Amino acid sequence: MSDPMSDLTFRPSPADRPRRTDAAWEAVAVEGRAAASQAVLSRADAPGRRWSIAPDAGLERPVLELAREAADLLARTDMRRVKACPGSHCGWLFLDPSGRRRWCSMKVCGNRAKARRHAERRRTSGGSERRGG
Ligand SMILES: [Zn+2]
Repeated sequence: MSDPMSDLTFRPSPADRPRRTDAAWEAVAVEGRAAASQAVLSRADAPGRRWSIAPDAGLERPVLELAREAADLLARTDMRRVKACPGSHCGWLFLDPSGRRRWCSMKVCGNRAKARRHAERRRTSGGSERRGG
């Protein structure tokens, strides 16, 4: 089985975007349908009631559970809140309920961008940038 999530972490060129997005969507939809066909509603008391993959799915269970969760997330998520990280060689997708988040992680991509901007400023100012602040 191909990895349906691998296509969700790419950063396509603008010309490539529609085709790859459709392929990624279809990959998740196919896996989501397979997972839904094996989902059972747990009889636990609320809030433990939930759809999950039957234990008899065996070794497929973790993949089906992930596909079920991914399909569920796509079905109930406002896609305007899904952003792709602009970090160099990143492209991770994340949910941005605030509408203000830019990076997948400030600790990784955000800090790399800050360091790159800082180095750029030092280079263009000939290393005479004022210290402090
Ligand atoms: Zn990132």
